[in-house]
Amino acid sequence: MRILAHPVGATSRERSIIERGLQSFAASTCIRFHRRTNQRDFVNIQSRSGCYSFVGRQGNGQVVSLDRRGCVYHQIVQHELLHALGFNHEQTRSDRDQHVRLRFAFDKINSNNLGTPYDYNSVMQYGRYAFSSNRQPTIVPIPNSNVPIGRSTQMSPNDILRVNRLYRCRQELDEPTVMFGDIAVETGLQNADPCTSRGCKWVKYSDGNVYVPYVISNQYSSRERSIIERGLQSFAASTCIRFTRRTRQRDFVNIQSRSGCYSFVGRRGNGQVVSLARRGCVYHQIVQHELLHALGFNHEQTRSDRDQHVRILYQNVIQGQQHNFRKIATNNLGTPYDYNSVMHYGRYAFSRNRQPTIVPIPNSNVAIGRATQMSRNDILRINRLYRCRRSG
Ligand SMILES: [Zn+2]
Ligand SMILES: [Zn+2]
Repeated sequence: MRILAHPVGATSRERSIIERGLQSFAASTCIRFHRRTNQRDFVNIQSRSGCYSFVGRQGNGQVVSLDRRGCVYHQIVQHELLHALGFNHEQTRSDRDQHVRLRFAFDKINSNNLGTPYDYNSVMQYGRYAFSSNRQPTIVPIPNSNVPIGRSTQMSPNDILRVNRLYRCRQELDEPTVMFGDIAVETGLQNADPCTSRGCKWVKYSDGNVYVPYVISNQYSSRERSIIERGLQSFAASTCIRFTRRTRQRDFVNIQSRSGCYSFVGRRGNGQVVSLARRGCVYHQIVQHELLHALGFNHEQTRSDRDQHVRILYQNVIQGQQHNFRKIATNNLGTPYDYNSVMHYGRYAFSRNRQPTIVPIPNSNVAIGRATQMSRNDILRINRLYRCRRSG
């Protein structure tokens, strides 16, 4: 993504609200607003009259107006940037007539809804009294007219999902693969991403520990929560990683039940979502697996040296999922390829036909991707990457 921003003419407080809005996209999508150097197309954020933006990339510098009088708020910054990314207002969606009744001529647009539901909590949904000339509502939700609408203070999960779908953002998505009927098998594995040499590691403190703040969503039952907590705490037993509840640290891991099990690789800045869906992801090894991603590790079968240890059978991989097997220039930290790593995918990961997608070589019968917890090598890699003192 090459979307460029160049905020001008604001106080430092206003500027930091705008910057925070710009940066907020990085936590949960692949959109990276970054300062323009000499790119042709860019977003030109100015304080003009009112809050507005063009929809989508227009070519050359396109104005996004955030009027100092009334527009410099987090949700408005996100709203206008979503326009610039290509999104329209929620109440103009093609299916809006099933969800709201309008008393104002809001155009309906033949929008691509990307398989997402109409969302009253979208940051793109206008409030009930938008453009009202008589203090009567202009937008009324149906069938229940009392549901709050347009009150969002930040992008909703649907807003984020739409960005990810429209731009085909590729998170490290570990879809549990249902094999032979009813067993959801987590498919995954890993080694240190190149980003770990460029600042995506978590910060080490003078006491030798690496504190990683976390927040757990209240979506989980107490049983699920305790499985997650146990996964978090398991790192302290054999490494210098200390997952600790967030107080107000800037960077943290935000554990939520979204669609599937996934995490970004390494520290991304601000709150980064680790999704552990209640259906299929709340298991000890999956918790450890996703946290290893967040610590900077990739899947074992994407290691730079994987071709000496496994053969990938692309002909059996689901169309469009081949990227899950791309090889990465990983830092293997002097550790051997490990079929028992909790970061190793199983034999049938992303299979389209119940035939194997990963076969160990030379002995194709060796078990792979069956770990129920971090292997000794997984632990060794953490200790080496983060230079934990007890490193062996
Ligand atoms: Zn708007
Ligand atoms: Zn994974």
